[in-house]
Amino acid sequence: MARKMEDDKKMREWCREIPKIELHAHLNGSIRDSTLLELARGLGENGIIVLEDVEPVILKSSRTLPECFELFDLYHIIATDHSTVTRITKEVVEDFASENVIYLELRTTPKHNEAKGMTKDSYMKAVMQGLNNVDEVEVVLNSTQTSSNEEPETVINSFGNEIKQTRKIHVRILLSIDRRQTTESAMETVDLALKLRDSGVVGIDLSGNPVVGQWSTFLPALKYAKEQGLSVTLHCGEVPNQEEIQAMLEFQPERVGHACCLDDSHWKLLKSSKIPVEICLTSNVRTECVSSLDDHHFADLYNEMHPMAICTDDCGLFSTSLSHEYYIAGTTFGLSRDELYDFAKNAVKLSFVEDKVKKELLKIFDSYKR
Ligand SMILES: [Zn+2]
Repeated sequence: MARKMEDDKKMREWCREIPKIELHAHLNGSIRDSTLLELARGLGENGIIVLEDVEPVILKSSRTLPECFELFDLYHIIATDHSTVTRITKEVVEDFASENVIYLELRTTPKHNEAKGMTKDSYMKAVMQGLNNVDEVEVVLNSTQTSSNEEPETVINSFGNEIKQTRKIHVRILLSIDRRQTTESAMETVDLALKLRDSGVVGIDLSGNPVVGQWSTFLPALKYAKEQGLSVTLHCGEVPNQEEIQAMLEFQPERVGHACCLDDSHWKLLKSSKIPVEICLTSNVRTECVSSLDDHHFADLYNEMHPMAICTDDCGLFSTSLSHEYYIAGTTFGLSRDELYDFAKNAVKLSFVEDKVKKELLKIFDSYKR
């Protein structure tokens, strides 16, 4: 028993230590619990929320689906304050970097709130300020940015290799279209993404409550994004809306998130299309998109060598981390360390980043394990 616990601990440490790529992380859902509690207390003191209603939910891990919805309401209030958005962005990037995520694609819905003096532009400025404020690690937002001359540190890794470690994380941003938005508002989001291309915005995501909104509402904006050369990823198949799933697969996005509730014909279509899937194991179980980890479609896709990346979705909301998601993928589906490592490295190819950066990231993977 003691031996097993020791092995388990080593596996968790190894998952934390290896370089990783995060492709599906929502900014607000990734807020630290400690920050959420502090902000909620402030809102409670100002009479904006009733702290006693949300405090037990914040203090809890393994939240149920209704409890997650309670936190969504809180996120919504928090995201209307510019300085809070800046703070959250800074902390989220630092948290991912601290678990050796070397490339992070962070997604967020630009918010518009007249009463708070917030426009989609000013919201994004607050996000960008957060990226600038990161001080625990160097943030690289485009391939022309010159890195600092800081000497890399030489360390011995778990494979026994001497590696040069730089405290650096490449970050790219996806702007999300929320399913509550109108066509016009979705178009505005795409225009904003185009305007912010030089600041690290590389693509568009479609997300939000999967039972709200119609595909035809978002299609013009998604087509426009594609025509303009932005990458597109869609939250697909969170509910069994087969008509929409069909339309999404026909649209041929660069990636899809989840892909849980596909019927047999769409499952075949997904596999033959080779559209990469962002896999969020804990999220899918907590939101009841799949009944259990053992029943997750990861195994089927893995056996067919379908392109996939392991992602967190909302690491704050679901009390997880990318390291933990790798750990549960390895232990649930019986993947060896070598298999997990190759899997982590393959995620580089699925990112929306420029080829030059992809090469740099692949080099980091190779230098880590020779
Ligand atoms: Zn998501």
